[in-house]
Amino acid sequence: MLFLSGGTGTPKLLQGVKTLLPQENITTIVNTAEDTWESGNLVCPDIDTILYLFSDQIDETKWWGVKQDTFHTHNALKKLGEREQMMIGDTDRASHIIRSNLIRAGKNLTEATQILARQMHIKANILPMSNDSVATTLHTDKGWLHFQDFWITEKGLPHIEQVQIKGIERAKITEDIRNAIESEDTIIIGPGNPVTSIGPILKLRGMKTLLKDKKVIAISPIINNKPVSGPAGKLLSAEGYSVSSAGVAEYYGDILSLFVIDKQDNTSPEDFDVPVIKTDTMMTSIKKSTGLAKKIIELQA
Ligand code: GDP
Repeated sequence: MLFLSGGTGTPKLLQGVKTLLPQENITTIVNTAEDTWESGNLVCPDIDTILYLFSDQIDETKWWGVKQDTFHTHNALKKLGEREQMMIGDTDRASHIIRSNLIRAGKNLTEATQILARQMHIKANILPMSNDSVATTLHTDKGWLHFQDFWITEKGLPHIEQVQIKGIERAKITEDIRNAIESEDTIIIGPGNPVTSIGPILKLRGMKTLLKDKKVIAISPIINNKPVSGPAGKLLSAEGYSVSSAGVAEYYGDILSLFVIDKQDNTSPEDFDVPVIKTDTMMTSIKKSTGLAKKIIELQA
């Protein structure tokens, strides 16, 4: 099975999927537009979450970082005057150091991710959306901000006027991704921020053509005009879409074959141009993630 993922919603779904399928049968294409260098190392927040999920290390209370991690290096760096805007745990940083050393030694991000995954005994196939650097920047009432500056330093508060995915026009789809998509009939877009997590993957040159003849099933991250978590609402508005499941379906456009919305969402299935299924999408426990995963596995058949 093949998933497109950001760093919170799809990982929750994958937590259920991995209780039902062998990891070898799971491929995840992961957003890299939120990647950033921090204290000398390349942090890939969404890839890290997926790595820690499949190696059973993820801190499920936050959906980032390693559970029970310590923060000695982070605290020491801050004391020494480093910016360190992200809270990076000591174990988490070990992955960043290895990744950055591999990249400095000439490996690309896909190779570095594969090496890290192997070291963590992960059998799932984790594919960065591109080896080329891409960065989501937001034009706000505080000027242009990298997504991480908006979300962490500014706590998601500034008004967003414009979204720019820097480098997306030049970024290439990797051979691994092309092969992975070509060998699947169905693609699952998990619940994710449509603009900053799934959008960059879909905007890669050639991606929509690759998905054209596939059965694409997406799960809405919005329930009744509110995202379950995070800034998806602000970003959809900034892009001119309504903050609703209908707005998300419109954003994804004609690549969609089937759209899954929450059973509590009041929007009528008739309001969509695409077939809609209502089910419980609130993944507040592994049991609930597994329930939704089971449903998605049934739907892909
Ligand atoms: P990020 O990389 O941390 O920004 O996270 P994602 O791109 O994965 O975005 C998380 C999106 O998934 C948010 O827009 C949430 O509204 C949505 N989300 C999070 N948890 C759930 C859930 O349990 N169910 C549903 N339907 N959506 C969720």
